[in-house]
Amino acid sequence: MGRVTTLVEGGRIVTATDDYVADILIEGGRIRAIGDLAGTEADEIIDASGHVVFPGGIDPHTHLDTPVAGTVISDDFDTGTRAAAVGGTTTIIDFAIQEKGADPRSSLMRWHEMAEGKAAVDYAFHQIITHLPDSLLPSLDGLVTEGVTSFKLFMAYPNVWMLDDGAIFKAMRRTAENGGFIMLHCENGYAIDALVKESLARGDSDPIFHARTRPSLAEDEATRRGIALAEMAGVPLYIVHMSSAGSARAMAEARERGVRAYAETCPHYLLLTDDRLAEPGFRGAQYVCSPPLRPADHHEPLWNGLAAGDLQAVGTDHAPFFFEQRLVGKDDFTKIPNGLPGIEWRVGLLYHYGVAQGRFSLNRFVEITSTNAAKLFGLHPRKGEIAPGSDADLVVFDPAGSTELSLATQVTNCDYNPYEGMVLQGAISAVLLRGRAIVRDGRYVASRPVGSFVRSAESAALSSSTLVS
Ligand SMILES: [Zn+2]
Repeated sequence: MGRVTTLVEGGRIVTATDDYVADILIEGGRIRAIGDLAGTEADEIIDASGHVVFPGGIDPHTHLDTPVAGTVISDDFDTGTRAAAVGGTTTIIDFAIQEKGADPRSSLMRWHEMAEGKAAVDYAFHQIITHLPDSLLPSLDGLVTEGVTSFKLFMAYPNVWMLDDGAIFKAMRRTAENGGFIMLHCENGYAIDALVKESLARGDSDPIFHARTRPSLAEDEATRRGIALAEMAGVPLYIVHMSSAGSARAMAEARERGVRAYAETCPHYLLLTDDRLAEPGFRGAQYVCSPPLRPADHHEPLWNGLAAGDLQAVGTDHAPFFFEQRLVGKDDFTKIPNGLPGIEWRVGLLYHYGVAQGRFSLNRFVEITSTNAAKLFGLHPRKGEIAPGSDADLVVFDPAGSTELSLATQVTNCDYNPYEGMVLQGAISAVLLRGRAIVRDGRYVASRPVGSFVRSAESAALSSSTLVS
């Protein structure tokens, strides 16, 4: 018996660089040929005429099934990856978290166990480092060998997640040699801690004070410091969940100087404002995340950064919780578990607010939602590309359709939708993961989860002399 073949017929194929109409022949999960293939026999035929076909989305920032602040994120690798799939994302990169004092590789094994046999889409991992004495530095090299090449470090949350600048710098120096990639959460942890203590002492303990005690300058300062440390260490840097206009400006200046700095932002920093934290009845707690939502004047600088190439990617930082889980912070905003859902809506929101509203081209949309993350995290050209030999991870998208976002229809396991009621231009008709249609007419249709672990190669950001923009 031959390998299963699929023919995607007559779609407008859009990649980071190309835009043309052609047929795609898939065999054994990979793209075998692209061209005028009318009449070619295949086990399955998908009519994509009138549709746009782009590479499956890659969400470079998700947290599934993760213990946080005494509770657990409400989406696991089952519900969270099905939500990703219906939203046009075929690969996620989740974060394994190092247990304090332990070798980070032991926690990585736990994340493998959580995901295996459960994931509806493919997945890779970043490793969060919470504790890095010199004796553990060699373990970073071991992670690269195991296909986990990106290490996330925190400049915020002293005594919990934060590494001091010395440890961050040493991790950067080590990573400059082992082919890994450093990711930074940029906020000034000590300054924020002082503001938080003052706020609680005054009795200002409602959710809105989460935002008030994490000013954008605390992020801008850490962004600039992080870039400087990476520049000194001679290592490329990826800044996660950028939320402020000042940080976007720091990126533009760094890249102007030729620094290999990259940044992602998230849909909620592009579209939601800090007003949400003031919602009555403690509902504001549903919008507590770090960095916090900002006033609206931060939105356009972030959009402009994405369009201009100062920011390269959009991840969701997907970290949903039920309202009840947030209640633990009723009298103290610092106890509210941090995070917003987003994994299901990223691609659709970026198409609507990015492409349909004229902020950037379809090609740039593909770069931002897929190709750049694939390149930066060592998954390209297997992922993020439509070319012979690449995995057949495809989204068949109907630009004439529309999609209403609502709690009533979402797959995400959570009791609210931050984008409730938004009607987006375009609708996802089908999603293929390695050639299999896992979503049809917007619904998840796979009979069993078929996602698997994808190893990250050494980052292209290190080996390539051209800057990913
Ligand atoms: Zn995160």
